[in-house]
Amino acid sequence: MNTTHITILGSTGSIGVSTLDVIARQPERFRLHALTAHRNVERMREQCLAHRPEVAVMVDPQAAESLRTSLAAAGAVTEVRAGPEALADVAREPRVDAVMAAIVGAAGLLPTLAAAEAGKRVLLANKEALVMSGALLMDAVRRSGACLLPIDSEHNAIFQCLPNGYVCAEPVTPHGARRIWLTASGGPFRDRPLDSFVGITPDEACAHPNWDMGRKISVDSATMMNKGLEVIEACWLFAVPASVIQVVLHPQSIVHSMVAYDDGSVLAQLGNPDMRTPIAHALAWPERMESGVEPLDLLTMGKLEFSEPEAARFPALSLAYRALEQGGTATAVLNAANEVAVEAFLDERLAFSKIPAVISATLDAMETEPVDSLDRVLAADRRAREIAGEEVGNMRQVVS
Ligand code: NDP
Repeated sequence: MNTTHITILGSTGSIGVSTLDVIARQPERFRLHALTAHRNVERMREQCLAHRPEVAVMVDPQAAESLRTSLAAAGAVTEVRAGPEALADVAREPRVDAVMAAIVGAAGLLPTLAAAEAGKRVLLANKEALVMSGALLMDAVRRSGACLLPIDSEHNAIFQCLPNGYVCAEPVTPHGARRIWLTASGGPFRDRPLDSFVGITPDEACAHPNWDMGRKISVDSATMMNKGLEVIEACWLFAVPASVIQVVLHPQSIVHSMVAYDDGSVLAQLGNPDMRTPIAHALAWPERMESGVEPLDLLTMGKLEFSEPEAARFPALSLAYRALEQGGTATAVLNAANEVAVEAFLDERLAFSKIPAVISATLDAMETEPVDSLDRVLAADRRAREIAGEEVGNMRQVVS
């Protein structure tokens, strides 16, 4: 068996930690080239000592200096690099075969694009990269011959339900697939009275009933913007229009998504809600390998329920459809405004119930342009952040 050299972008986050857990179960199969983080020195130090990557990148220069000193004192041989350019360098490094793209938010775009342009096996958790610039990323994958494999549990499930050998960069609708059912747990506020949404705290929003995730995606799950971003992601990955995708509430998070075919067959992928399953699937594809996840016990799992999401409870979902319909830079604007609003909510500068209003006002304020260059996407992202920041200020909804 050949050894796979891997870089993990965002190794100190929830997906990064799960990826290291899976890899550590198959030491003969994987060698770590690089781990990267923003500024979490403590966790990166632990990871370097336990997993011995060749390179560790800290985007924050002070964090890099502190990691360098601390690793030298421990006698570790890992080389420490600093700055955002180093992220793209370790993603495109010739000896690297696979890149786990698990940085949260727009910060993941450039290194993910670098991995795609360099023809790597790209394990895509950073859905924001596709939402911002799907056309550019998919084009880079096609031109370089990169292999793009979805890590989001829903998209990984859809991938597993598509015909054997279907590769995400194919610009064709999967043959005979009539409908994609994208499942959504509904998050922590699925049954909470709507009139109490204004008092929701960051800790409440981050307490997801089924999944243990980073704070930004947890808030996105609570608003359902996460599902909106996933609809956009699915359109790009599987070359289907939004009309083919239907979001369905499934509170148990056991069925990770489904594909319905012309002949009446519906294929589903089921499993316990643990991200190590899609991570192991994408790492080993087209083979299978141990992930550490307990198999589902059909006799004890109980009922599986499905229902339609309420539009009034989850307005963020329709904002995502709106941006998708506008096309061009609108999805980058949606993503940027959402990141600004979520950060303001987590900092207690914006009420939870105002997150969709910030996004909607930002979409209203900006013209949609075609996504014909990275500069155009980055300019739309910057301008949307400015506008969304002003909107947050205007709302003056301080949560005490
Ligand atoms: P976390 O917040 O747990 O981790 C984010 C990682 O990105 C950390 O390593 C963090 O470093 C790094 N990071 C943050 N900001 C920057 C920056 N400006 N530059 C470089 N690195 C940065 O996120 P998750 O692991 O939950 O999510 C990661 C991605 O995967 C997201 O796009 C999310 O939507 C997607 N995803 C996550 C799932 C999950 O179960 N968690 C499921 C499906 C998709 P540091 O620790 O130093 O801040």
